[in-house]
Formats: sequence, C-alpha cells, structure tokens
Amino acid sequence: MEHDDVVVVGGGIAGLVAATPAARAGATVRLLDARRAPGGRARSHGERGFLFNEGPHALYRGGEAQAVFDRLGLDLSGGDPNKGVVAHGLLADDRLVPLPGAPVALLRSRWLGVRAKVAIGRLLGGITRVDPAPLAGVSMASWLDDRITDRDARVLAGTISRVATYVCDAESVSADAAVTQLQRALGTGVRYLDGGWASIVDGLLDAARAAGVNIELGTSVEAVATSPTSAPGDAGRWTVSTSAGPRSASTVVLAAGGPALAASIAGDAAPVLHQWSEAAVPITVSHLDVGLPGRWPAAPVVFGLGRPLYLSVHGPVAAGLAPAGGSLVSVMRNHRAGETTDHADDRAELDGLLDTVRPGWRDDASVIRFGARRVVAHDRPMPSRGGLAGRPGPEVPGAPGLYVAGDWVGPRGLLADAAASSGEAAAARAADAAAAAARPGARMAP
Ligand SMILES: Cc1cc2nc3c(=O)[nH]c(=O)nc-3n(C[C@H](O)[C@H](O)[C@H](O)COP(=O)(O)OP(=O)(O)OC[C@H]3O[C@@H](n4cnc5c(N)ncnc54)[C@H](O)[C@@H]3O)c2cc1C
Repeated sequence: MEHDDVVVVGGGIAGLVAATPAARAGATVRLLDARRAPGGRARSHGERGFLFNEGPHALYRGGEAQAVFDRLGLDLSGGDPNKGVVAHGLLADDRLVPLPGAPVALLRSRWLGVRAKVAIGRLLGGITRVDPAPLAGVSMASWLDDRITDRDARVLAGTISRVATYVCDAESVSADAAVTQLQRALGTGVRYLDGGWASIVDGLLDAARAAGVNIELGTSVEAVATSPTSAPGDAGRWTVSTSAGPRSASTVVLAAGGPALAASIAGDAAPVLHQWSEAAVPITVSHLDVGLPGRWPAAPVVFGLGRPLYLSVHGPVAAGLAPAGGSLVSVMRNHRAGETTDHADDRAELDGLLDTVRPGWRDDASVIRFGARRVVAHDRPMPSRGGLAGRPGPEVPGAPGLYVAGDWVGPRGLLADAAASSGEAAAARAADAAAAAARPGARMAP
C-alpha cells in the first residue's frame, strides 16, 4: 500500500492551503479530491463569455486568507466594489434610497434622521479602536443594541454586519468575530478578484505542485481509520480507504467541507467529530448570478434594509468576469439559523430585487444561474461556545495524527479566512507529527 507522511482529504481552499506548507516542511504529501475539478466552493464556471464564482465572493484584504496566499506566493489582483459608487438601501416598500458610505454622505443623507446620523457615525468612526477579543461571549445583536438606540441606525448597522459576516441573525454570531469582520470591511475593505476565485485555486495548485504534492483528482475518500497494526497513540498509522484503493498515512488532514462529512469519513476513529457535526450551525444563502450584455445602469451596490437581501455588480469591477461592455451582477438572500424557506420563494425575492433595480433584466440576460441554499460556512462562531476561540480543531481530541481544516475550524477568521488559516495551522501540525513519527521508537501524544 502506498504510504505518505500526510494525506489531505479535499482540494478546496483549506486542503490546497494545507498541502503546500506540509510539503515545504519536508513531508511527503498526497491530496485527494472527489471531483475532477478541484477548488470546492472557490471554483469558477465559464459560460458564454462570463465567469461565475459559486455565488458572490469577496476576498478581505486584511484577512487571514490574503496573508496565507501571500506567504504561499500567490499573485492575486482585483477591483474594489465600493470605489466611487453610491451604495443604496432597499426599503420595505421596495424604494431605493442612497446610503451614506462616507462622512459627507452621512451628513447629507435624507433617509437618516439627526440622531441616527450621530449614532451610526459614532459606531463606524470608532469601530477600529474596539478590541474584539473580550467580546467572545457576547452576541453581535446585543453588542449593537448596547450602542445604538435609534431604530434606523440600528437597522443600518445590522445590515452592514450582515453583509460583512453573511449572518443575518446577529444574535447567533459572537461579537468578536463580527466586529473583526466589520473592522476589515470598513478598513482595508475587500477585492473582487480578476479571473474570479479560480485564480486562487490555480495559484494554490501551482504552489502545491511546485512543492511536490501528489494530487489525485476524481478520487473519493470513503473512510479514514486507524490501521489494524497500530497501537493506541502510535505514531500515525492511518488507513485511508478511497475509490482508487487504500492508502496509508502517518497523519491525515480532513478538509472535505464541513463537520458532517468529516464525521462520516472518520467518525468511527474520532467520535468527537459527530459531536462537532451536531453542534454546528451553518451559514446559508440563496443567490442569483446574472450575466448581461450591457453596463449595469444604476445602484451597483444595494443593501436590503431590515430585509436579508444584497446586490452587487462583480463584472467589470473585477477583470475577466464579463465580456467587454457586459456586466455580471449577483443578488443574495441570507437565511436565519434554522429558517426553512422554499427555494421558489427565495428565487422570487431575488428576482424581485433585480426587477426593482433594473426592470426588464430577464429579457436581456445572457446567463442566469440560481444557487439554492448554499453553505457559505459550515458553522458560525457563537457566544454560547466562546466565540472564535470556541470553534473546534485543527487537532481532533482522542485521534493523534488526525486534523481538520475548513471554514468551521480554528480560532481565526470567517469564511475563506477560516478555511485558509485552519489549513495552514493543520499543515504545520501534521508535518511536525509526521516528522516525529518518522523518528525511531516515536509515539504520538494521545
Ligand atoms: C454563495 C457563497 C458565497 C461566499 N462568499 C464568500 C466571500 O465573499 N468571502 C469569503 O471569504 N468566503 C465566501 N464563501 C465561503 C468560501 O467559498 C468557503 O469558505 C471556502 O471556499 C471553503 O473552502 P473549504 O476548502 O473549507 O471547503 P470546500 O470548498 O467545500 O472544499 C471541500 C472539498 O472537498 C472535496 N470532498 C468532499 N468530500 C470528499 C471526499 N469524500 N473525498 C475527497 N474529497 C472530498 C470537495 O470536492 C471539495 O473540493 C462563500 C461561499 C458561498 C457558497
């Protein structure tokens, strides 16, 4: 049976990030992905001259993912969606109102009253000076409620928090994570990537190949179990059962998506994975991405005010997403934790937002792609679990040599930031453990 120091299960951002530093540290690394096309939710899809991400994707300039990509040598470029544009708010009666995006606009805004202007100005102006760490046990909803009493200002603050975190029920997300995300959104901001998020996947694949990672695509991992010959706590004797036959590994990084998949693959060897899976509260959205031949006429950024809707024009903000003269626009509908919406109702809400902003869009659209109830992150940092620091992994208690990585893992970042950061952390631990395992008479800490 082929043996590797590290086997990485999953070739999304978390797995691709994990593979390269482990290989650079001297480990032999094999990465397996069930699909022939790697990248997971960071893939991009070309159609009729448009390039669609898996829903609207923005990379936080000040986030962990950007820093990890820099360390791996990726050269990414992109556009700022907020540069030079007036954002709009969508009111309950479908009216659009210009939103204050800068201090001058805040003073001029007719939608907000004086008290609201003062409250929102104070909150946003002081956000960078807030230390998020002590807020791990506080929900974002109560943190905002403590600071803002004016109703309109509270709605606007909650809306900005929702767009930055993808979480629309602010009572379910810890303020350490949400405030950090707001600081990044309002500070260094985000980029829509030239060439889509495929540019991340391509860069990570190049880095992995250059580091000597053995990449097996179209190979599904069915189970990960301790090898029959290994003693408890023994240095890394994992059997990885795959659709292409068994593999052996000193250490395994599970980066196949969420905790439910991790549990289904390795739950017999690590029962805690089942507990993590049961405790997870995923963040989901439905989205509609539309490619149009002409320029988007007005309102390139629209925030639903008190309504979980969002619109943003991605092409031509980022190069390569729309053909010359065309535009690619994404609209999104967030879900509350446990909210059950009908796919058709989500679709109708998204269509309705586009109807408001650009009547007749359907007749002109070159491509329409609908994503129903997609998982943006497989868990959220919650105040009841101690916020970011309460998220599980990358170590798996009771299973030495087994690690997890993904957007539900580790103490840093949300979304792709968590995936990249936990991937890098898992890589360091797996490479160290594999090196320790290779020493004569070595046993892993249980
Ligand atoms: C609509 C939408 C919008 C988003 N917007 C943003 C955004 O603006 N900013 C941001 O930072 N993040 C955003 N995200 C989140 C981001 O895409 C994810 O956090 C990130 O891509 C997750 O990477 P991952 O590697 O953890 O998981 P995945 O991308 O899910 O990768 C898992 C991989 O494992 C493979 N796999 C699964 N099972 C097996 C198996 N049994 N054997 C082998 N391989 C297997 C899959 O094929 C897949 O390639 C968004 C996500 C969505 C859906």
